[in-house]
Amino acid sequence: MNSINELLRPNIRDLKPYSSARDEFSGEAAVFLDANENPFNAPFNRYPDPYQRELKKRIAAIKEISAENIFLGNGSDEAIDIAIRAFCEPGKDNIVSISPTYGMYQVAADINNIDVKKVLLTPDFELDAEALLKAADEHTKIIFLCSPNNPTGNCFSPQEVKKILDEFNGIVVLDEAYIDFAPDKSWLTRLTQYPNLIILQTFSKAWGMAGIRLGMAFAKDEIINVFSKIKYPYNVNILTQQKALELLSDNDTMKRWVKELLEERTRLIETLKTKDFVKKVYPTDANFVLIKTPEPKKIYNYLVARKIIVRDRSNVALCEGCLRITVGTPEENRELIEALDGLS
Ligand SMILES: *Cc1c(COP(=O)(O)O)cnc(C)c1O
Repeated sequence: MNSINELLRPNIRDLKPYSSARDEFSGEAAVFLDANENPFNAPFNRYPDPYQRELKKRIAAIKEISAENIFLGNGSDEAIDIAIRAFCEPGKDNIVSISPTYGMYQVAADINNIDVKKVLLTPDFELDAEALLKAADEHTKIIFLCSPNNPTGNCFSPQEVKKILDEFNGIVVLDEAYIDFAPDKSWLTRLTQYPNLIILQTFSKAWGMAGIRLGMAFAKDEIINVFSKIKYPYNVNILTQQKALELLSDNDTMKRWVKELLEERTRLIETLKTKDFVKKVYPTDANFVLIKTPEPKKIYNYLVARKIIVRDRSNVALCEGCLRITVGTPEENRELIEALDGLS
């Protein structure tokens, strides 16, 4: 593959990042008079650590990787945007993405004036590595993959993912937002084998922290350093860093939530399968279930009228007739099923 330096936009390669007060002095001190902060209202008067060192140390221990391979952002969405801005020259370069998938790759590309070449998954939502590699041209800098995929819910075959990692000359972004729900293991353990791999994970799903906006990107240090150079200096605020540290001190809660959600998911799938109006329940490795029905809009509106909101995905490629249902608490799932009982 091409080196990271060759893949970067020239202006990003040459970029001198903003140097903040906390960059120039970051140790322990008695009196901080360097950043024009208000001395009152501690601790919120202080700028947060621009490199989130304590938080990264904790995440590194949990994920069993080095802190140098971690970027933290304002949700994974920030990492998606930065990846595109780092490697893709507006109006010239492009990305290749699967379809259907998470909508933010397209939006981030559109904002940056980057063309998106979309390659359909197979009818059973599997990745076609050959087709993706064929779609890539000399201006393709990034291939975006998402496994388990949203909205289809499935993990892709590791052989297909590996083929893309081995044969593509650019960057591969693998979004693992739902990996904590999946039986498949994360590609994190193989990060060192693939210098072109960027893995995205998030605190928004299994960790139950969508509201604090914290996303992770894992990659070789050369890529992480570029991301850190591009991001806003203080992109992860103090409240988010504190809250994340608090929740990360107790790994078991997340594991308990996941276990309960997987049990609920099984129950929900069993029940949905008994409904006449459910033509198909797709296999899922995530905290949601995709179902196919002849009348998606009718069911969607019926549920809205009962104050239950699911996601209508029937206009999405390969998802004709499909609704995406997030697994809720046992009570919420019971309410959903009771409402659906009134339909058939
Ligand atoms: C929910 C989701 C995310 C999370 O994005 P954040 O910005 O971290 O909240 C990322 N990728 C996919 C595919 C998702 O479905």
